Amino acid sequence: MKKIAGLMFFVVLSAVFVAAAADSKAVEKKKVIAIDAGHQARGNSSVEPIGPGSSTKKAKVSSGTSGVSTKVPEYKVTLAAAKKLKKELVSRGYKVVMIRTKNDVNISNKERALKANKKADICIRLHADGVNDSSVYGASALCPSAKNKYVAKLSGKSKKLSECVLSEMCKEAGAKNRGISLRDDLTGTNWSTIPVTLIEMGFMTNPSEDKKLNSKSYQKKLAKGMAEGVDRYFGFDD
Ligand SMILES: [Zn+2]
Repeated sequence: MKKIAGLMFFVVLSAVFVAAAADSKAVEKKKVIAIDAGHQARGNSSVEPIGPGSSTKKAKVSSGTSGVSTKVPEYKVTLAAAKKLKKELVSRGYKVVMIRTKNDVNISNKERALKANKKADICIRLHADGVNDSSVYGASALCPSAKNKYVAKLSGKSKKLSECVLSEMCKEAGAKNRGISLRDDLTGTNWSTIPVTLIEMGFMTNPSEDKKLNSKSYQKKLAKGMAEGVDRYFGFDD
């Protein structure tokens, strides 16, 4: 009898431990991800400081690029991708803060960063690229350097976040990985107080990449890959 009681005690104790472990994993995964779909229906050319205390000023929101073959503007592609990324992250147990859910908004890059800072653990800024050469294609990530005047302390984590999200996204979508660019002139990044990455999902000035960026199936692959990258960043990938 004593033996059985001992065994029962052990079984109950193990169950408690297993439950506690599962619980802590679930709690841990409740990280909050801010997704900022770049640009908006109409750019805002009035200016704001590019970082806290800066005398250098840039337009509040630039108008972005547009598809060379689809003619679709960047702000529509970034919002479509943002919505798919939200769905993918929520299905993996994350909470998501959307900086915008409509195209007809007027939110400056500084305001976007402040909104993300308030509620999220990390911020993913979605953009598409454009250049005066239709042969250029591929995806890249922009993050602050260690010499950034405003967010140098976030450089290491932002670089890790950029690397995880970009490489998993390129792997999943089969996109060319153009690597990480260190950029200290981005208002939406310089006002951040949380690790931040700006993902250039591809070139809308390249006819075939433009078409892909506008296809739902490709957007889904981009979203799945980026979410995979977020899992890897937080160590939820094993
Ligand atoms: Zn952009």
